[in-house]
Amino acid sequence: MRDSSLPPHDWPELLPGWVWLCGAGPGDPGLLTLHALNALRQADVVVYDALVEPSILDWAPRAEHLYAGKRGGKPSARQRDISLKLVDLARDGKRVLRLKGGDPFVFGRGGEEAQTLIQHGVGVRIIPGISAGIGGLAYAGIPVTHRDVNQSVTFVTGHDQSGDTPGSLNWKAIAEGAQVLVIYMGMKHVDQIATALLDAGRPAEEPAAVVTEATTPRQRVLETTLGRMSADIAAAELAPPAILCIGRSVLMRQVLDWQGLLAGQPPRDLDPLGRGRPAEVS
Ligand code: SAH
Repeated sequence: MRDSSLPPHDWPELLPGWVWLCGAGPGDPGLLTLHALNALRQADVVVYDALVEPSILDWAPRAEHLYAGKRGGKPSARQRDISLKLVDLARDGKRVLRLKGGDPFVFGRGGEEAQTLIQHGVGVRIIPGISAGIGGLAYAGIPVTHRDVNQSVTFVTGHDQSGDTPGSLNWKAIAEGAQVLVIYMGMKHVDQIATALLDAGRPAEEPAAVVTEATTPRQRVLETTLGRMSADIAAAELAPPAILCIGRSVLMRQVLDWQGLLAGQPPRDLDPLGRGRPAEVS
């Protein structure tokens, strides 16, 4: 059943036996794509992760909602089990929507799930989503690129498959080469990560920000420095999910905190990068 509330377009039909692997964005339902909405309206079953904001499921009222994540302190459902569950649902002739937080191909194991589905001959469509490391920072008033700050962004995960800080990462090279660093899953090992970056020569006073539950009504933003980040996170009792951002782009929040502006707080500094007076508007 296609969604008649969407304007005419060649909207794809979610066919029985197919799995669409879809990003739900970081939280705010307004950040869903139209393809995601089209999928939510057609699915028989939505298999969702812990990071999918619950209110997003309201957009799929006629579908069964199946949780595939951590619950009650139990370990997450094993990745292989989730992938095979998707294969089973597809083989039962269901229209399956696999909904993942952010973008399914950014630190989300979407690639593994899609590969398993294709290996089992299941039809797949990929629907990208807004990744927390971009959209979440934008909601905090932090642009991941800014002409006066950076010509590159480095996205890093603070966990590897074993759950440790990724030993496979060359932190010295990252410290030397990354202009702005955006770290996913970094809370557990924030102390080690900050120490590795400091040891490799990043300045302790480098601006840093932590955005938890970005784009949800519970969003919190901490502005700090690389040297103080770990202690400040503990003092503020911040909890995951969080995006860490290290770099001078964080300073832009002093002028671009648009949610603060909405709440009536004036900008703290109209020119935090010291570029001089704003151009005259005639
Ligand atoms: N595929 C997701 C990332 C999954 S990895 C994406 O593209 O966004 C899980 C990590 O993503 C979390 O540990 C956290 O670092 C980050 N994350 C996801 N949603 C978030 C949110 N709403 N606020 C802050 N961080 C978030």
